Order: sequence, then C-alpha cells, then structure tokens
Amino acid sequence: MPALPDLCRRDLDVLWHPCTQMREHPDVLPLLPVARGEGAWLIGADGRRWLDAVSSWWTNLFGHAEPRIAAAIAQQATTLEHVLLAGFTHEPAVRLAERLLALAPSGLARVFYADNGSAAVEVALKMSFHSHRNRGDTRRTRFVTLRNSYHGETLGALSVGDIPLYRRTYAPLLLEPLFAPSPDAFNALPGEDAEACALRCAEELAALLDAHGDTVCALIIEPLVQCAGGMRMHHPAWLQRARQLCDAHGVHLIADEIAVGFGRTGTMFACEQAGISPDLMCLSKGITGGFMPLAAVLATQAIYDSFLDDSRERAFLHSHSYSGNPLACAAALATLDIFDSDDVLARNAVTAGKLVAHGRHIAQHPKIADFRHTGMILAFELMADPATRTPFPAEDRIGLRIYRAALRHGLVLRPLGDVLYWMPPYCITDEDIAHLATATQAAIQEVLPCA
Ligand SMILES: *Cc1c(COP(=O)(O)O)cnc(C)c1O
Repeated sequence: MPALPDLCRRDLDVLWHPCTQMREHPDVLPLLPVARGEGAWLIGADGRRWLDAVSSWWTNLFGHAEPRIAAAIAQQATTLEHVLLAGFTHEPAVRLAERLLALAPSGLARVFYADNGSAAVEVALKMSFHSHRNRGDTRRTRFVTLRNSYHGETLGALSVGDIPLYRRTYAPLLLEPLFAPSPDAFNALPGEDAEACALRCAEELAALLDAHGDTVCALIIEPLVQCAGGMRMHHPAWLQRARQLCDAHGVHLIADEIAVGFGRTGTMFACEQAGISPDLMCLSKGITGGFMPLAAVLATQAIYDSFLDDSRERAFLHSHSYSGNPLACAAALATLDIFDSDDVLARNAVTAGKLVAHGRHIAQHPKIADFRHTGMILAFELMADPATRTPFPAEDRIGLRIYRAALRHGLVLRPLGDVLYWMPPYCITDEDIAHLATATQAAIQEVLPCA
C-alpha cells in the first residue's frame, strides 16, 4: 500500500467528511486530494486527472474555475463582500431577484434568500404553514411528500424525505408527513407507459387529498427527476394533475428544483415541461454555477401578501447570517449571463443527444436493467437479474466497486446504490464525452465482466 499523501494524513487527523462512514477512509474509500479544476476535470495534487461526471454533487454547470464567474466574484469581493440583508439592500441581491423572477414560471413574484438547499426547503415549509395560519387556517399542519423523495438533511427537510438510509435513524425526531406514491416510470406496471403510470399514481394522490386535504399545508415535489432517489424519472402529466389537485384542496405546491433547476432537465426549470407554476420554488446547487453556497425560495404574491400586517408575529422572521451574500449573488448573475451569451439550453440539447447515443450503447450490458434520461441527466440501473428485476445483494457493493474502478480510469462516477448516472457539467466537450463513455464502460466491465 503506497504511503498516503501528506494532505490526506493531515485530513484524516482533523476532518469529518459529509456522507461518509469515516472508518472506510482510506482503505475501502480512497481520499483524493484535488489541487485544481479545469473545465469538466478535477486535477489531483499528484497530477492525476478525473472527469467530474457528477458535477461535484450537481452544482457545477460551466466547468471548474470558470473564468467569467471567478472574475465576477473577485470583482465583487473588492467592492462589497457582505452586508446583512435585514434593513439593508445591495445591487447584486436586487438584480438577481429581478432576473430570477423574469425567468421563473409565471406567478412567482418574490425572492427570499438562504444559503443552501436544505435551508431553502425549511424556508418553503415554514412559509407555507405560516401563510395558511396568517389567513386564519390553523388546521393545516401537515405536508404531503412522495415516496423515494429527497429534500435535504436538516430536520425539516429530512422529515419530507423518504430515503431510509438518511431518514430511519432520525425518524423519532422528525415531522410525520403523508406519503403519496412516486410516479416513477421505472415502477410502471406491465403494459403501462410512463404517462399511464403517472396518472395512476396521481389518482392515489387525489384519494389522499380527499381524505386529508383540509389539514395539509403543502405538497413538496422534485419535478421530473427524483435525483438522490436514484435518478428516477416521471411523466410531466403527473405534475399537471398534482397542480390541479393542490388547487382543488387549497394546498400549496412546493417545487424543489434544487437539483433539476438551471437547465438540468432541458428547460431552465423542470416545471416548464408541464406548463405549471408552483406556489413556492426552491433553488440552489447550480444557481452560482457551482462556485458559492446560495439558495433562493420564490413565492407567489398571494403567499407574500399573507404576511403583511402590523404584527411582528405575522412576519416571516426566518433569517440566515449570510442571506443574499453579495459574492454568491455576483456568481449567480455571472452564471445567468453565461446562459444568455453561450446559448446554453440549445447547446445542451445537442450535448444530451451525444450522451444518449453513448448511453444506449453502454446500456446493452446484460446487467443494465434500465437506461433513462431527461436533459443532462442520464442513468443506468444495474441489477443482478434484469429480467426478474432482482437487485444485487447490498453487501456486494457493486456501485462502490464501480466508483473505485472508474477512478482508476480517470472518471468520477458516484453511483447512488447500484444506479450509475451521468450528470456532467454543461461544458463537457466531445473529447470528454468519448472519455466518459470509454471509462464508464471499462469500469462496468471490470466489476461485472461479460463476454
Ligand atoms: C441537494 C438537494 C437538496 C439539499 O441541498 P443542500 O444544499 O445539499 O442542503 C434538497 N433537495 C434536492 C432535490 C436536492 O437534490
């Protein structure tokens, strides 16, 4: 076993990493010292290079150390690095809010800033509850969420999530939401297409709201793709029906676009593909192009108006020290500029087509039970027996082994269980795509050899 680089030894003496069983470092799980980033690539302290196929947890859009965003942050840092947003305002916060509202689905009229995705979800849940209360409806105390959903790790956000690995341990501390079935097309019944599956699941949501609708604050959803839940995808017809049902029951619709916003699914926001507008929309991750922590919750005028009163208690008193941080807003403004100047959505459509062509080829592997894609999200579902939908035994840790094999091939894949996915930076080049495909195939073949 080669000696650990000095940085890794120092790290393991002092750090506690996110989403990690620290016992597994460094023997089961390598710890990779990264010196810099360039385009879609991460470059190790020792000169090794890995293509970042997961956009550093779905945050990066236009490449690492993208010069235009870096310059915007540097410029802002020499002007105004931060000021509290209570009682004060500044150009980057106002300008960004104006631009987000201009891009967002119609009806969203106000921007509330936070500094990470989970915080945005907390804000949306509290706003929804408080808004009903301010209008005199005190019966509404519950939330509806979908099976297999993920909305973050803080207690409120975790409460409306349904991934056992993250939720189970903390269950005694959590709110108890009502769970509706996920319209996930992978779970379609035999002979059912994605749309029929979506509409069948929507009828179960309808029944749930018929029974409990008058005690529900909001339905929270990840439109089009449940990302952390294994890149499970659904038909937009479900979103249309969910919107109608929420309206019929006076329930807010919260769209968590933290992972799918900013072009990931092919449109600026996923809700657009169903032609719906949520009452509250949570944004983070790609909002700064992957440079700075920032989140925004967009709300309708009706929700905003329900807080206007002489009483402090009716106001939304939630706050974070770094709300609307000018450096983060400057990074977000530079990110939106790139969407305009580089015609990103049109280019992504072409890039996604190339990724799909490679993906289809890889999906011929006999252990791949499903290959699915929405915009710049592509996923391969690995199973021991695709014909009977039998998963690999968890203890085989197929995903982890493919992760390690891919690293040896110069590629960062970070499978969700046994679901491999590509969610690369939008700047990925043709040459990068060729490497992505070759290295993915090699890593799968190493762990799951087939003739
Ligand atoms: C990542 C994610 C979150 C949480 O965001 P953090 O910034 O990691 O707290 C919430 N919702 C969805 C859909 C996400 O993908």
